[in-house]
Amino acid sequence: MILPIKKFPDKVLRAPTQAVVFPLSPEIKKLTADMIDTVKAADGIGLAAPQVGKSVKLVVINLEKSGLELFPLYNPRIVKTGFKKIEIEEGCLSLPGIFGMVKRPKKVSVEAYSASGQKVVFEDDGWVSRVVQHELDHINGTLIIDLVRKYTQGGDVVKAWKKQKLL
Ligand SMILES: [Zn+2]
Repeated sequence: MILPIKKFPDKVLRAPTQAVVFPLSPEIKKLTADMIDTVKAADGIGLAAPQVGKSVKLVVINLEKSGLELFPLYNPRIVKTGFKKIEIEEGCLSLPGIFGMVKRPKKVSVEAYSASGQKVVFEDDGWVSRVVQHELDHINGTLIIDLVRKYTQGGDVVKAWKKQKLL
């Protein structure tokens, strides 16, 4: 089932998130399936639970276009970051029409859990690294408008939000 995507300034995007417990409840299983349907329908490369109004530590990564199978990550966290940082243009399904340059570590080590509750640890310095960092920010209530220093699109909208004290 495709879920509506919450857009800024919806407060759920800033709310604290709860850890997922194992074995997964039917609600979390359903949420995972719905988030997969939603990220595909939106043609997004990642989606975090707060973006569909659920304050839980769950993200789905959809890099099928890069040849990876779509996968969910439960309770993900970054355990190590590389020194090297790179600036890449990012957008967000919760911020339609807004794009900007975001500087992040190139390489990260991630610890998370699979649907079966198995701990997974992996390292990446490509798209997975970038998308996981963006989605993990959502879990922590951070949005790209907190990080962008130079907008490539929609900078005027963000300026208006700042004036309205929305960020
Ligand atoms: Zn986003």
